[in-house]
Amino acid sequence: MKKVIIFSAPSGSGKTTLVKHSLEVIPELEFSISCTTRQPRGNESHAIDYHFISPDEFRQKISEDAFVEFEEVYTDKYYGTLKSEVEKIWNKGKVVIFDVDVKGGISLKKYFGEKALSIFIEPPSIAELERRLISRNTDDAETIKTRVEKAEEELTYAIEFDEIVVNDDLSEAKIKIESLIKSFIGEARV
Ligand code: ADP
Ligand code: 5GP
Repeated sequence: MKKVIIFSAPSGSGKTTLVKHSLEVIPELEFSISCTTRQPRGNESHAIDYHFISPDEFRQKISEDAFVEFEEVYTDKYYGTLKSEVEKIWNKGKVVIFDVDVKGGISLKKYFGEKALSIFIEPPSIAELERRLISRNTDDAETIKTRVEKAEEELTYAIEFDEIVVNDDLSEAKIKIESLIKSFIGEARV
């Protein structure tokens, strides 16, 4: 059966860390590469981390109905999930894994229904989330402030997800995620 795994979380919760871990330990999974209008950061590459496209190209894709969902996650920064990406992964017989913001996660769950397992990664506290964002050292103080404020609102949507995993101890969170995904996609195929 065609299946998808949706990961959402406030920025700094550890979602990227847990998505990467899942991809390493569960070979059936393939990451859905989103489109974004933001600039690449650090070692990010085109068509690996994201399809980095211009606002005009993004608008063009909206008009072609190419997205399952898209959001303006931060001011003037658009992110969208391509229908073609999902089909490509399913055609290989693999399970799609999405890393999207909280609103996007809720839209994807509505769209895919029973085919989807939606997982909300929760930080142990807002203070710890802020500490992680600071120690990650990828964002300036203003960006961190915006992300922390946004996190407080995003946490109120956790109950809309199939599963909530609190990422306190990282090794425990990894084990929990691995077991949730494996049981959803079926032990026999893992
Ligand atoms: P997100 O993708 O949700 O923004 P990241 O995966 O980038 O979050 O994690 C944010 C920072 O917190 C990273 O520096 C990461 O190494 C660290 N981190 C992730 N999980 C934990 C954890 N359980 N305990 C402590 N630090 C963590
Ligand atoms: P970043 O800029 O840190 O890579 O991502 C910012 C946020 O956008 C993260 O929460 C990430 O999960 C989310 N995001 C990435 N791709 C998509 C997408 O296709 N749709 C939505 N709605 N959010 C996305």
